[in-house]
Amino acid sequence: MSRFLNSKYRELEAYTPGEQPTDMKYIKLNTNESPYPPSQRVLDAVNSAEVAKLNLYSDPTCKELKSAVAELFGKRSENIFLSNGSDDILNFSFMAFCEGSKRAVRFPEISYGFYSVYAELHGVDYTAVPLNEDFSINVEDYLTNDATLVIANPNAPTGLCLSLDEVERIVAANPDNLVLIDEAYVDFGGESARDLTDKYDNLLVVSTFSKSRSLAGARLGFAIANEAIISDLEKIKYSTNPYNINRLTLLAGEAAIADNDYYMDNCKEIIRTREYTTEALRSMGFYCTDSKANFIFAKSDEIGGEELYLALKSRGILVRHFTKEKIKDFNRITVGTREQMDALLAATAEILKEKRK
Ligand code: PMP
Repeated sequence: MSRFLNSKYRELEAYTPGEQPTDMKYIKLNTNESPYPPSQRVLDAVNSAEVAKLNLYSDPTCKELKSAVAELFGKRSENIFLSNGSDDILNFSFMAFCEGSKRAVRFPEISYGFYSVYAELHGVDYTAVPLNEDFSINVEDYLTNDATLVIANPNAPTGLCLSLDEVERIVAANPDNLVLIDEAYVDFGGESARDLTDKYDNLLVVSTFSKSRSLAGARLGFAIANEAIISDLEKIKYSTNPYNINRLTLLAGEAAIADNDYYMDNCKEIIRTREYTTEALRSMGFYCTDSKANFIFAKSDEIGGEELYLALKSRGILVRHFTKEKIKDFNRITVGTREQMDALLAATAEILKEKRK
């Protein structure tokens, strides 16, 4: 730390992204990326003609892509916000819709680790609300509080979902609080709340092209909400970095929307692979939550979470282990291709066999 750093950031603990080691070739099951490449249309769209235009700024209004996203989801462009990954939208939302102790924020205690980082970054009071024993969210905890609410649905890293009715109960009970539903993983079996934005002006649904649409490296997130909420987010964007989606990503996003069927078919395959892998892990004695995301959250009584993570890593397979006390026995395993999951299962069986010796 330099002596110049603003004192309010001195104690800030930044988010730790999943590791990207380069010492060997790993089967990467630690950051919930899609194992499938972008579609051919995306590869064609990001072509040298567009690269040749990189001397020019991108369109800050994202007109074409906004209208494509709006059309896909049956909304108007005014209801769509686009940004440089959904992390960017979450950050903007904490800036826009939270304020110290005046407008605090609540989110589940076990959830996406960035929520508390954003709260700390922007000096927002926050409550990390404990989950039920089985890691499910207790809806009652979100019905009577004066705070902005942030809920990942499906939740991460548990993979568990609230039903659409439960989400609506929370939104309807909080007419004077903004409710942000983070749907990064919704395409793998959850129910989207995006159509509730037509009915409720306090709902902001945030999503991403990083998981189901194979564009993690392009950085593209989108949000759907009432026009007033969207214009608040635009205000923050235009006050920080108006060109925050680059030219290539804008085109890649449009092409990905045009190829929606390809991505939805990939999601179906990922769901099948998730169920196959979950069943195999359970038959090896693992406890797995009923994940509706593109990852499996699993623990074994025979081996600690960290021990399994390290043993898999030494065999060239990366999974995500969290040190938080309540989930330290678990690993979060991204669902890859069937071949990748077979390699994971074989390595896990081998590790357990060695342990039993
Ligand atoms: N929300 C959740 C719950 C996530 O797990 C992630 C991915 N780490 C994000 C948002 C951010 O994704 P991105 O910035 O790639 O859109």
